[in-house]
Amino acid sequence: MLTFTDHGIYCEAGDFFIDPWRPVNRALITHGHADHARPGHGAYLATEAAAPVIRHRLGVPVETIAFGETRRIGSADVSFHPAGHVPGSAQIRVEVGGEVWVVSGDYKVEPDGLCELFEPVRCHAFVTECTFGLPVFRWRGQQEAMDEVNAWWRANAEAGIASVIGAYSFGKAQRVLAGVDAAIGPILTHGAVENTNEVLRGQGLTLPATERITPDTPKSAFAGALIIAPPSALGSAWSRRFGAQSRAIASGWMALRGVRRRRGADRGFVISDHADWAGLNAAIAETGAERIFATHGYTAIFRKWLESEGYDAHVVSTEYEGDLFETDSAEEEAGEAQA
Ligand SMILES: [Zn+2]
Ligand SMILES: [Zn+2]
Repeated sequence: MLTFTDHGIYCEAGDFFIDPWRPVNRALITHGHADHARPGHGAYLATEAAAPVIRHRLGVPVETIAFGETRRIGSADVSFHPAGHVPGSAQIRVEVGGEVWVVSGDYKVEPDGLCELFEPVRCHAFVTECTFGLPVFRWRGQQEAMDEVNAWWRANAEAGIASVIGAYSFGKAQRVLAGVDAAIGPILTHGAVENTNEVLRGQGLTLPATERITPDTPKSAFAGALIIAPPSALGSAWSRRFGAQSRAIASGWMALRGVRRRRGADRGFVISDHADWAGLNAAIAETGAERIFATHGYTAIFRKWLESEGYDAHVVSTEYEGDLFETDSAEEEAGEAQA
């Protein structure tokens, strides 16, 4: 019913693609990250909550659909359901002649105080991401992780130095914002982060007050402040003007030894917008699906695991497999060009 082509996931009954990586006539988009929402398609369909970021990043018109609304495209019935990954992110359900497939996009099952809560959708076949599809990846609760961030910021503020945290500009940055204790001090932002904040506030999301860093921002503004920037800005010329500072990164990859050091951070906070091992397994079980297609991450290992659990499991290769850490940073890049 869905086929995996060199352009992406294709539905013949509706003549559309889901998150295609090469230009197509009609694209259904799960969410606005750069590895899912690409330029050059003839038509775009996304949720009402995902569309503003996609329009902002790609400068294209986007047709919208509400969560849970069913739309007929050709002979396929299509609906979008919350994926809990970033604001507006969706799993896409496709039904043709009584057979149901769901494409997860990126997802996270744990509530984060920012995104729509992940909704399990029953299906016959489930195309699942598995970015963190190894048992070593186990997240703690949002509150516990944010308590750590707040303690780090508070200690730095008391020592009179800046706290610079690398968080990709759409999703992670706002999740950090939603969870920090804004009473500790002022919150300053990199342009890529602030541009996304503006789009999300424009669609009704409430975030603590932030101030965009510009060339005119006085040097005295940085000591004691929390500065939220894309991870690539850490240690850059841009960040040198903050003076004495502690650098941190918020990412699921911080669970791996050595990654924090390689990225030049003093602290690593394990905060991910993807499901961990337990989350992936729980989400897959809840679909009731027998056929599982693994994409986006540790696909080969995860497929084997699913097979041992009795599933009819397959791997779907996308254009960007390879260095997993790069896959994570690909999600950061789109906003950065606009900084
Ligand atoms: Zn994503
Ligand atoms: Zn992705």
